[in-house]
Amino acid sequence: MKDDGTFPIAALATPPGLGGIAIVRISGDGALAIGDKLVSDRLPRVSERPANTFFHATVLHPETREPIDDAIFLIFRAPQSYTGEETLEIQGHGGGCVSKRLLEAVLAAGARLAGPGEFTQRAFLNGRMDLTQAEAVCDLIHARSERAARQARLQLDGLLGRQIDAVYDQILTVSADVEHLLDFDEGELPETFLADAARRLDAPLETVRHLILTRHEGQLLRDGALVVISGKPNAGKSSLMNTLLRQNRAIVHARPGTTRDVIEESCVLEGIPLRLVDTAGLRETDDEIEREGIARAKAWMGQADLNLHLVDRSDPHGLAALPPFPDPAKTILVLTKCDLPSRLPETFSLPEQPAAVVTISTLTGENLPALQTAIRDVLGLAPGAAEATHPTVSLRHAEALQTVLEEGVAGQADLTRGAEGMVLAALHLKNACEALGRITGRVYSDDLLDRIFSRFCVGK
Ligand code: GDP
Repeated sequence: MKDDGTFPIAALATPPGLGGIAIVRISGDGALAIGDKLVSDRLPRVSERPANTFFHATVLHPETREPIDDAIFLIFRAPQSYTGEETLEIQGHGGGCVSKRLLEAVLAAGARLAGPGEFTQRAFLNGRMDLTQAEAVCDLIHARSERAARQARLQLDGLLGRQIDAVYDQILTVSADVEHLLDFDEGELPETFLADAARRLDAPLETVRHLILTRHEGQLLRDGALVVISGKPNAGKSSLMNTLLRQNRAIVHARPGTTRDVIEESCVLEGIPLRLVDTAGLRETDDEIEREGIARAKAWMGQADLNLHLVDRSDPHGLAALPPFPDPAKTILVLTKCDLPSRLPETFSLPEQPAAVVTISTLTGENLPALQTAIRDVLGLAPGAAEATHPTVSLRHAEALQTVLEEGVAGQADLTRGAEGMVLAALHLKNACEALGRITGRVYSDDLLDRIFSRFCVGK
């Protein structure tokens, strides 16, 4: 059968491995008829059962009729389902083997395996959610801190989409008015029309500017902040890393694909997921390797959202040969071991002024809260907001919003040129609306959808 976008797709919606329950979800035209083939003919037909009901049955293989599992079947009918399509959820026993057999039986009954994010993609295509909400589903699943999860939840509720829609409507109204009066000469235009039209763009463009500024926060919450710990051997890097990890255990640890040339761990500090990188792992005895190690450490420091550069306060030569900070505004100089007498010169000047200097002891815990506050401040994040109150945008949104801003500002400038600027202004405003449409999915291409949904897991 040709797949026209409504063909029934199926996937395991729960993680593989041991667990109490495994859920196989089937969505698309004929999903319930697939259920008919999986239960005894003596039972009422799955495809004839009412929406939002469930029943218990033995799952049979559609060809061999071998019993596979005991399961609960949940019935959803279009459009009242996650995807907006007819959907059947089968909740069987957890466990890698039994859930695999359940999925195989569903595929043998006529479904095909869903691709990554295909259920959510269908939900978007069927108008169940806009693109920002679809992206929020992925962010929510991947959230590595409570604050990131709250932020994703806010977006899933449609807050960002509604703000974008409001900006879209405001710009579209101005654009429509300008297009309507395109054929008029300057003298024939309603008095103050052009100035008013330009002024009416101020508010939506201000919202756009404001949203663009949330990108940094959004990115830190989504991807985690890269915090690189550097300093001479014995400065106390491993001790600080271990202390931060102990105090701020992350829910999720090692990230797949992490490079092995440094030690990377995850933790959550004031709701912000941090990727802590200890460059200590780079130290080798052989000179050539050491040089390579230092080059890599510098590369990490260059990429960092924050660099914690450690200097041992009890070492009289601690400040000797201090390396240049790749970005002083993103650097905290941490003077360690303050439980020991300081052997640094009483006054010293630094080649560059870091964003903050904090004196700590991991042994006694002295000043560790001050270091945490400094980390949060230098990352530019507000104190651990218990509730997410404003949407934050992703890189994709910010790029589109930048286009909106440039086109909007150009449109405003054309409007102030008088009647002859109106044609160009109309064009700029149309482009601005199109860029806004790409954010929420009013305007989309297969390529854009591929890029967004390939980040999803299969089964969502
Ligand atoms: P690294 O080489 O930079 O990773 O440094 P380490 O974390 O391995 O620490 C080097 C030495 O300093 C170890 O013997 C630690 O126990 C000690 N050390 C680390 N932090 C402190 C501290 O706050 N106070 C004291 N007194 N010793 C510390």
